[in-house]
Amino acid sequence: MSQAGEILIYTGPMRGKKSDFLIIELEQARIAEKRVVAFKPAKDTRTAGEIVSRRFNEQGLPEISRRFPATIVTVPSDMKTVIDLNHPEIVGIDEAQFLSLEFIPFIKEMSDRYGIEFVISGLDMDYLGNPFGKTMPGLLAIAHKVIKTMAICYRCKSRHAIFTQKITGSTAQVEVGDTEYRAACRNCWYPYRGEISKASG
Ligand SMILES: [Zn+2]
Repeated sequence: MSQAGEILIYTGPMRGKKSDFLIIELEQARIAEKRVVAFKPAKDTRTAGEIVSRRFNEQGLPEISRRFPATIVTVPSDMKTVIDLNHPEIVGIDEAQFLSLEFIPFIKEMSDRYGIEFVISGLDMDYLGNPFGKTMPGLLAIAHKVIKTMAICYRCKSRHAIFTQKITGSTAQVEVGDTEYRAACRNCWYPYRGEISKASG
């Protein structure tokens, strides 16, 4: 194949429906009878063997809204093995912010040389409003198309929440979970610095 496959990225805050958009793209590709495989990094330990999107019920508890089978990967060779076996036309990746840096040239090569189309979902910023690590900014740079998703602000109900708001827990950049985070708009967001900062926020 000589034509490069498009790299499309859905990015934004927690609860921004990124995984929903990703799964819808992959389901559509399957309906169109394309060969599709999906991956997720080992660091996302919430659900093994599948990409899962969630909605939150009236009690604020997460419920699964969509799911798609996925292979867990740690290094690019894990992904290459599955690609060589299945010859996918479309590859989906969820939680891409947890991929190691070496995935950036790998994904570029798979797109350029093999013509594989990628649909990727991941966080653009951490809960302090900084770019999330180095992999996600790199992927955003090589993407053909980037769609920023927005969420509903947990405080004022604006539909333009672009930040991830941490509301409880530790101050580590990477804390995998659903209940520790909300989405916030630019006006309502504050840099979480532990439980104490909530009072002033
Ligand atoms: Zn707000």
